[in-house]
Amino acid sequence: MSIEIDHLGIAVRGLDEALLFWQQQLGMPLQGRETVAAESVRVAMLPAGDSTGSPRIELLEPSEDDSTIAKFLEKRGPGLHHIALKVDDLAATVAQLKNAGATLLNEARIGAGGHEYAFVHPRSTGGVLLELIQR
Ligand code: ZN
Repeated sequence: MSIEIDHLGIAVRGLDEALLFWQQQLGMPLQGRETVAAESVRVAMLPAGDSTGSPRIELLEPSEDDSTIAKFLEKRGPGLHHIALKVDDLAATVAQLKNAGATLLNEARIGAGGHEYAFVHPRSTGGVLLELIQR
């Protein structure tokens, strides 16, 4: 079983403004933008790794006022929102964590890029929101 960093999720108030830094000033390539309706979020992905395209920086802009990201911005301001690890078998990892008593925030579902993912509550991880993703 291998676990690798897939991406770092950063909450921003506006994608265009954030891309001014990450894409224009820093010079990272923009892999793509998409809206993930289930999370009420607009996403921009910027590859920061090798030819496999990961790890990546994931910029998150709320698409609805009552979305999770909007609430995060209200409470904490822009900044690091979650880290995402890529696993071989998401269902197996989720089952393993549930058995061990970890708190999962959702059942595995399809998100950005058509990949399956699940979130683990910060109380189980040492204080950081963790996204598990199968690619
Ligand atoms: Zn993410």
